[in-house]
Amino acid sequence: MKDNIWKKYSDEDITKLNEICDEYRKFISESKIEREVTRNSIKIAEEYGFINLDKYINEGRNLYPGAKVYVNNRNKSLALFVIGKEDITKGINILGAHVDSPRLDLKASPLYEDTDLAYLDTHYYGGIKKYQWVTLPLALHGVIAKKNGDVINVVIGEDESDPVIGITDLLPHLGAEQMKKEASKVVEGEKLDVLIGSMPNDEEENAVKNNILTILKNKYDIEEEDFLSAEIEVVPAGKARDFGLDRSMVMAYGQDDKVCAYTSLRAFLDVTDVNRTTSCILVDKEEIGSVGSTGMRSNFYENAIAEICSLLGHNEVTALPRTLKNSFMLSSDVNAAYDPLYSDVMDKRSSSYFNNGVVFCKYTGSRGKAGSNDADAEYIAKLRKIMDDNNVYFQISELGKVDAGGGGTIAYILANKSVNVIDCGVGVLSMHAPWEVTAKADIYEAYKCYVAFLKEA
Ligand code: MN
Ligand code: MN
Repeated sequence: MKDNIWKKYSDEDITKLNEICDEYRKFISESKIEREVTRNSIKIAEEYGFINLDKYINEGRNLYPGAKVYVNNRNKSLALFVIGKEDITKGINILGAHVDSPRLDLKASPLYEDTDLAYLDTHYYGGIKKYQWVTLPLALHGVIAKKNGDVINVVIGEDESDPVIGITDLLPHLGAEQMKKEASKVVEGEKLDVLIGSMPNDEEENAVKNNILTILKNKYDIEEEDFLSAEIEVVPAGKARDFGLDRSMVMAYGQDDKVCAYTSLRAFLDVTDVNRTTSCILVDKEEIGSVGSTGMRSNFYENAIAEICSLLGHNEVTALPRTLKNSFMLSSDVNAAYDPLYSDVMDKRSSSYFNNGVVFCKYTGSRGKAGSNDADAEYIAKLRKIMDDNNVYFQISELGKVDAGGGGTIAYILANKSVNVIDCGVGVLSMHAPWEVTAKADIYEAYKCYVAFLKEA
């Protein structure tokens, strides 16, 4: 274990660290789901002069060194590029983070009434401990797409004047049988239904549910069947907060992986005079296997590079594979930080620690590295030099003890396409819980790492 890096910071470092972490807290409070991250990131990128790649394609305009473009993939993933002075087939420096997080999704027909109480039925998304989601203030985020083509944004539970909703739990007085169950069964998936109302209207049947429908009709002009074409996510209500009496940490929902998404985006936008082409990917669906048209396993990213190659005059079939082969990527994703309360599943010599810097993870996977991208030693050596040359504090770790479990990221997906990739991100405590904790010094070092990588890899 290295030294705590707070001891090494100058006043200037601490000013910059606080500036980045304050902005991060604000960003993550307003960007809780993949659609919100995508929308807010496009807004920021456009302020920095980025233009939708479709504009170049539709107008038949060529790209040129210094051009800044983005690709919006169905409002749930985003890829941004700054075209370098060097030929694109020499490779791209890529930062890739995911912007989906564990949560509860509403089912297609979610609304029902039972015993004069109205509920929303859910299906959880990603790896959660279900018992953590009861008795918390929750909010609704997402969209309702109507048959007339309107897409209505929904956010209920975040404004201070908004109501919140939530899931009830059994009182301990009657919980004797429940408490004997194993933790995965204490609260089961079908019990994660959200209580949203108790007041009837004048109707004979389902008066509480009908009253809720009237409220939704007045607020959003929607009918019950519009839930059929909605994507609404139930997430913890409330803003990100400074954590610890010393304010050295951040507590927020969805820091896996928006802490890396934010620091990647910010580093990417701050480095615009580039020799090699640079790119930032903010991608959906990592938590359920990177599947679907908005996940990393879809072709949207390579298709975007192919379009860019073409607009740079590279129409030969070798342009895309050469670009990928010569590219470097940091799969910006979080790591499980060492938790002294759960030291039994951590290997002390191969763990990441709070306030010890950005974490490189050579391989993830489980049961003998299965499913992992195992980064090349030569690539790691190159990165070590870049980090040391730029005074970036870093640590190298793996995810817990051998045979304790495991996990994956998007790293292997572009590695399969011949890109040099390693996982690199911020350590997290209480990962995948409704409220996750990170250390500010690690957030700052991740930002510094991503800047150094974009400039020098
Ligand atoms: Mn992740
Ligand atoms: Mn995760």
